[in-house]
Amino acid sequence: MLLKDATVATLDPPSVERACLRIEGPVVVERAAKLAPAMGEEVIEAEGALVLPGLVNAHTHLYSALARGMPGPAEPPKSFVEILEKVWWRLDRALDEESVYLSGLVGAIEAARSGTTLLFDHHASPSFIRGSLATLRRAVEELGLRSVLCYETTDRNGLEGRDAGIAENRGFLASGPTELTLGMLGAHASFTLSNESLDRLSAAIQDANSSLHVHVAEDRADIEHCRVRHECGLVERLRRHSLLSDRTLLVHGVHLSEPELHDAQADGAWLVHCPRSNMNNAVGHARTIAFRRAALGTDGLDQDMLAETRAAFLRMRDTGREDALAAAFELLVGGHRLASSFFGLALGRLEPATPADLVVLDYRPPTPLTAENLTGHLLFGLDRGHVRSTMVAGRFVLRDRRITTVDEAQVLSRARVAAAALWERKAGL
Ligand SMILES: [Zn+2]
Repeated sequence: MLLKDATVATLDPPSVERACLRIEGPVVVERAAKLAPAMGEEVIEAEGALVLPGLVNAHTHLYSALARGMPGPAEPPKSFVEILEKVWWRLDRALDEESVYLSGLVGAIEAARSGTTLLFDHHASPSFIRGSLATLRRAVEELGLRSVLCYETTDRNGLEGRDAGIAENRGFLASGPTELTLGMLGAHASFTLSNESLDRLSAAIQDANSSLHVHVAEDRADIEHCRVRHECGLVERLRRHSLLSDRTLLVHGVHLSEPELHDAQADGAWLVHCPRSNMNNAVGHARTIAFRRAALGTDGLDQDMLAETRAAFLRMRDTGREDALAAAFELLVGGHRLASSFFGLALGRLEPATPADLVVLDYRPPTPLTAENLTGHLLFGLDRGHVRSTMVAGRFVLRDRRITTVDEAQVLSRARVAAAALWERKAGL
């Protein structure tokens, strides 16, 4: 396939060039200012379009895809822990196989329509644990996206629930990676995990040569619980259980101190910043000035990384950071670096021998677009409404604004029925 005469922009380092891309199988095989179509080759005219590498969401919860418009609790939650108890821990308990599958499809459709080609998902469905990750993989692969999946281990559903969570992670990892999907170990947060649970997670990680995806210091309650119960900070606690490695994902880190953030990153851990979720839960501002090895996540609000990057930028500006533009861009680029280290692929490059994971946007800039001002266009010009087509591993999952891999109308119609039933089950819990 030949993608012809596009404006190709890559982010790391920033570059903007008129180029043609030749794609064979899952990879870009040739890139040049001009390429003539080969005999029988399909030609995609991309004149007037902007092509970007597919975007990476470093932390999401696909299971929340069926929560849009869901009635809230009778009494509004008064704290972050109450938001979990009254909303999310009741919703996840009401999930069954059908709703996990459909939320995976709906979330993946949203991702494709937002130009997001790779998701790090953190899944919980306490009434349907065993087989939940395979169900989610089936949905995301049917749509055609890449993902890294894990199950949220926690003590909040008793020891049986905890052990089932670890077993689900272990079983999924043992089933092996596929071209599009990897596994890792998932855990909720320090304040819902005992020392024994952390040791069990650590053992599972060693056995599978994997790493941990965990919420850290999202709310002050997490650090206070750790200080009172374990007499140490959160990073120290994770270290004591050998849970920090070069592919650990620490999500939020809102209440970590700068020295703690430095320590975690020195151990190789990645920080995931979720500014819109943090604002939505009113949990505070992360010290993003100390985020170096870091990426952005939507925490399940949607799968829109352009919106998340803009929110990261505005929030940093609001606290007076003068380098906010560059810092927000670095976080977006961090997603490609993180994903590349997991998949062992040069994601985000669009050069010969790199994966053909890309987004075609209907974007005719009203001002000059160059490598130097690409960040300005990304933050002030582009949004998901510009996404025309999305390709993963050389296959269009969205083409000319139509989802190609599943019947979108049918999925949405099934999802509406499943969501209504899910909300009803949740109300009864
Ligand atoms: Zn989360």
